[in-house]
Amino acid sequence: MKVYKFGGASVKNAEGVRNVEKILRQFAEKEQIVVIISAIGKTTNLLEKILDAFYYDKKQLPSMVGTLRENHYTIVRELMGDEGQRIIDKLDAIFKQLDDILAGEHSENFDFDYDRIVSFGEILSTKLISTYLNMVRVKNEWADARSLIRTDHNYREGKVDWEISSHLIRNKIVELFEKRNTNIIISQGFIAGTEEMLSTTLGREGSDYSAAIFAYSIDAKSVTIWKDVPGLLNADPKFFPEAAKLEQIPYEEAIELAYYGASVIHPKTLKPLQNKQIPLYVKPFLHPEESGSKISASQMENPIPCYIFKTNQVLISIYPRDFSFIAVENLDEIFSIVSRNKININLMQNSALSFSICCDNNARKIEKLIEDLTVKYRVKYNFNIRLITIRHYTDEVVEQMIKDKEVMVEQRSRTTIQLVVGE
Ligand code: ASP
Ligand code: MG
Repeated sequence: MKVYKFGGASVKNAEGVRNVEKILRQFAEKEQIVVIISAIGKTTNLLEKILDAFYYDKKQLPSMVGTLRENHYTIVRELMGDEGQRIIDKLDAIFKQLDDILAGEHSENFDFDYDRIVSFGEILSTKLISTYLNMVRVKNEWADARSLIRTDHNYREGKVDWEISSHLIRNKIVELFEKRNTNIIISQGFIAGTEEMLSTTLGREGSDYSAAIFAYSIDAKSVTIWKDVPGLLNADPKFFPEAAKLEQIPYEEAIELAYYGASVIHPKTLKPLQNKQIPLYVKPFLHPEESGSKISASQMENPIPCYIFKTNQVLISIYPRDFSFIAVENLDEIFSIVSRNKININLMQNSALSFSICCDNNARKIEKLIEDLTVKYRVKYNFNIRLITIRHYTDEVVEQMIKDKEVMVEQRSRTTIQLVVGE
């Protein structure tokens, strides 16, 4: 058994869906494959807007839900023409459930509503693709991840119960492969469920993590993430047109890269795979025969510098008001304020008189954080900041990177340098 994962970008239009079909025709003949799929294109963003309108501006709902429908119907029509009605009927049954929720009142819990509404994206995409594939005789079974991945009630960031989930997944997947005589099972990324079958989600971009949970549970031979890039690159080609592909990456190195913000793989994905020594391939979905990149238990050969850019950062420096030194008590208090505001720190540094943190500029959250800190501290901040991390840096590479830039904070270890600079 293998696990494949297709993200939203790879199924954003009819051509993408046909490409999934092509890949499955090519590989599912000899192999049982569990296919994990995200919501199509930018559906999750649209559903987040729909949720906002559900809370604050209901009159916008009809046009927004109309767009959501049209995005899906367009793909169906392009795939199947008039014959697509069978798919549309199935999607309509799902839209009816969404309409029913939106016709009611929202609950007292925004995150609960987030999960029950935003999870529709993956349900729609997998129903669409599964039905289409069956119609073109790529025989598959659809499985509902909400009843297979079990989480607690921490909506939007569900904590996975590994024991129950792996049990549920293994039983269901083995049963479907055996009893239904199929080589393909299609399920959703990102979504999960509680004991009472309430929808939860695993955090934005969580579909990779779903693929890892499935792979871990069924002891898969490998996981392949199909992407619109040749593999794992040493830099984001948006910033570095000459980015190079990494062939072999040890788990530890890939975990470090994901941790520092390389956006290729969701950071939670790798640990479960490493525990079971399941290799992860990142492959280009337009060229399935290419080798892509392989993350596995291996040695790093001749490391080349890897660049990770985090843009739109804010640098906040915090000073005790009484000009005292930064001491453990201050840090304790600062951390609890940061944690209460649910802010992730991307880099921190302290000196005798101040403590600085660099984090994502999430406007609403940062404003609140600064307000809370200001009660007891003097706070200075800079917006439009970029955090550059270079793994396996050399002096030349760093020199090159910072020329004409003001470096506000620098941290180095033997393998990694981090630089906070203006955009
Ligand atoms: N659809 C979800 C998102 O866009 C999950 C994923 O794509 O991985 O965040
Ligand atoms: Mg996505």
